[in-house]
Amino acid sequence: MSDLFVKNCMLENGEKVDILILKGKIADVSPFIHGVSESVPEIDAEGWLAIPPFLDSHFHLDATLSYGIPRINQSGTLLEGISLWGELKPSLKYDDLVERAENLCRWSIAKGTLGIRSHVDVSGKDLLGVEAMLHVKEKFKDLIDIQLVAFPQDGLLRSNCLENLNNALDLGVDIVGGIPHFERTMVQGAESIKILCEIAEKRGLLVDMHCDESDDPMSRQIESLTYETVRLGLHGRVAGSHLTSMHSMDNYYFSKLLPLMQEANIGVIANPLINITLQGRHDSYPKRRGMTRIKEQINGRLKVAFGHDCVMDPWYPLGSHDMLEVASMALHVGHMTGQNEMKECFRAVTQYPAEIMCLDNYGLQKGCNGDLVILQATDTIEALRLKPSRLFVIRRGKIISSEEPKSSNVLINGETYKVSFSKKDFSWTQV
Ligand SMILES: [Zn+2]
Repeated sequence: MSDLFVKNCMLENGEKVDILILKGKIADVSPFIHGVSESVPEIDAEGWLAIPPFLDSHFHLDATLSYGIPRINQSGTLLEGISLWGELKPSLKYDDLVERAENLCRWSIAKGTLGIRSHVDVSGKDLLGVEAMLHVKEKFKDLIDIQLVAFPQDGLLRSNCLENLNNALDLGVDIVGGIPHFERTMVQGAESIKILCEIAEKRGLLVDMHCDESDDPMSRQIESLTYETVRLGLHGRVAGSHLTSMHSMDNYYFSKLLPLMQEANIGVIANPLINITLQGRHDSYPKRRGMTRIKEQINGRLKVAFGHDCVMDPWYPLGSHDMLEVASMALHVGHMTGQNEMKECFRAVTQYPAEIMCLDNYGLQKGCNGDLVILQATDTIEALRLKPSRLFVIRRGKIISSEEPKSSNVLINGETYKVSFSKKDFSWTQV
């Protein structure tokens, strides 16, 4: 819990302010803060954008940075990824799991991502991954809010792992996961949702399920998830991750589904980087994009967040845990290039996942946690365009990462021009 005075910040709404953090909490956000004690350390944001930290509401810390072990996913498909993970699982070692997850957490901090909801596989022969991730969560608790989801990767009923899942929750895993579309039948998928939601209700936990991650227009487990949410009174406490089958559903059915999701106040977590590469693999041309209907769900006032899902693992060979890359992909795939639509994409990696993850004291208002990121950008749209330097990453008033501003020196006819691609470099008529 530290004190810090951050001068000359730009807020998302264009307001220029100073931000004072005392004892780890935001004590003041005003245009000119005077009378700050000289004992409080001071930094100058030089007019760059201040935002609350990025949040990744869907990730797999137990699989991350394992790309190529024991072999590469040649087809690039979800199913080969799942079977590759099945090959890797029996040989996993506690120390390797911890080392890879800790590496990833350092990348997250450097990118200003200070909240991660990670699914952890509980369908193996033991709970090694759970134990390793609980260790990482504890080790990083002062730096990153890590939520763990008990995730039956091979299917709750299909792999008979209910006991493991309950044991993982007993050990301190926070959230009940699921993967109904991977059960043997639609009926079994619905049965798994019923069992899992009842566990969450009994234990007072949140729910976040991998749901309908396929191109099958008839995969409609989200319908069962909304039904169980309403039946058990879990409104606002349940999230559906992926929901890609929705891309392929007919419009009439979607018009029935949306009000059901609104009634249950379901959180939606799309994973655009991963699903744009995994979906549509059985199509020739035209190829479906396979991302859930983010624009319609945002317009339908559902909470929509974007997750990174994977970084260099059996399902995805790329990534650096940059949530701006995620939001940028969603914006492109979802045709969300309107001004407000782009801003919504930014909120889907900041404000909206905070609501889905039920994080307390998140934001840049007085009284919130003293957590913020200074981006080398003038506004959120420029941040999406440039994926700029994270000049300062601040947690509870302490600088935990810093990066130099990016710029190039371009030489033309003996003259040197500084290029940073920012609107700050030239006069610009604001839209
Ligand atoms: Zn996932």
